[in-house]
Amino acid sequence: MSILITGGAGYIGSHTCVELLNLGYEVIVLDNLSNSKEESIRRVENITGKKIKFYKIDLLDRENLEKVFMENKIDAVIHFAGFKSVGESVKVPLRYYHNNITGTIILCDVMQKYCVKKLIFSSSATVYGNVEKVPISEDSPLSATNPYGRTKLFIEEILRDLYNSDKEWSIALLRYFNPIGAHESGLIGEDPSGVPNNLMPYITQVAVGKLHELKVFGNDYDTHDGTGVRDFIHVVDLAKGHVKALNKVMVSTGIDAYNLGTGKGYSVLDLVHTFEKVTGKKVPYTIVKRRPGDVAKCFADPTKANKELKWYAERDLEDMCLDAWRWQSNNPNGYE
Ligand code: NAD
Ligand code: UDP
Repeated sequence: MSILITGGAGYIGSHTCVELLNLGYEVIVLDNLSNSKEESIRRVENITGKKIKFYKIDLLDRENLEKVFMENKIDAVIHFAGFKSVGESVKVPLRYYHNNITGTIILCDVMQKYCVKKLIFSSSATVYGNVEKVPISEDSPLSATNPYGRTKLFIEEILRDLYNSDKEWSIALLRYFNPIGAHESGLIGEDPSGVPNNLMPYITQVAVGKLHELKVFGNDYDTHDGTGVRDFIHVVDLAKGHVKALNKVMVSTGIDAYNLGTGKGYSVLDLVHTFEKVTGKKVPYTIVKRRPGDVAKCFADPTKANKELKWYAERDLEDMCLDAWRWQSNNPNGYE
């Protein structure tokens, strides 16, 4: 079976390629490398001993996208390609709407033309907006608090309209919580450009000496230690969730959303202390004021994915810290 992975050179995409290749799927990657390096593809090939067919193409380039569908018999698409920085999306909203929403519309239009109607879409827990009740189940109210989140929310709605117009489609909307960690080989991992916005890459860059200290955004939240609580999920567990979703979309039609999280909430300081314990590295930090837009607690109710996809997150916080550190310490400058 041949699977097209858009954004397959990126963080979650590369880990998903490993899982698919290990299971014998043929993998075609399309990526414009706007936020990744081709080296990640080579590393995936090293880990698995399998080849990837790689197209350096922009999703917005319909003509070249069609060529990918003409040259290959594609059975399903896993769609990771998109911009993902909340802060940047506030500054350049049109760029986000164009890349994420127009890119998805073009992809679906081409898929429909070539009769490929199995799609897995990277959504996000951000579609739950200002979380009021945890754990969050899929039927919780949806809203967006920034342009990035709105692209995810709008795309979910667009895909629902698409399914309503043509019941041959089979679509899984996977709402990721906080993916961290790296493949256990230490060969692939998260490689943010510039100073990381997210917590785990910031911690690993402090530990490796690239950054001076972590700034913890607020310790006056209504949580067990005052710092924000999140559902950190190992990227390999997340990648395996895509394989489970693929099993489902291949044998059914419909559109369904699934939370991919562990169901457990850990605080910023829980993560810092676990990281220090398992790696033996100190992570100096100072408490600063809250980051605007952050919620106190956000963690999943993953029951629907457990039951319907037969998917369970198996790796714990210590695994996430050890694997993130192996990647960062072996590759202090990422893929460069
Ligand atoms: P990433 O930036 O590492 O990967 C995305 C890839 O898409 C990159 O390789 C980039 O070069 C590519 N890309 C972007 N726009 C493109 C375009 N127009 N044409 C072709 N390629 C394009 O990000 P990631 O962390 O692997 O995230 C993958 C997906 O999951 C994204 O859609 C993101 O919004 C979503 N998501 C990520 C997180 C997270 O914390 N990492 C959480 C929730 C949802
Ligand atoms: N955070 C922090 N310092 C940082 C980055 C993040 O204290 O440098 C906190 C942030 O306030 C939130 C948690 O870590 O409570 C997770 O933030 P991240 O940006 O990784 O993911 P988010 O949940 O915002 O998508």
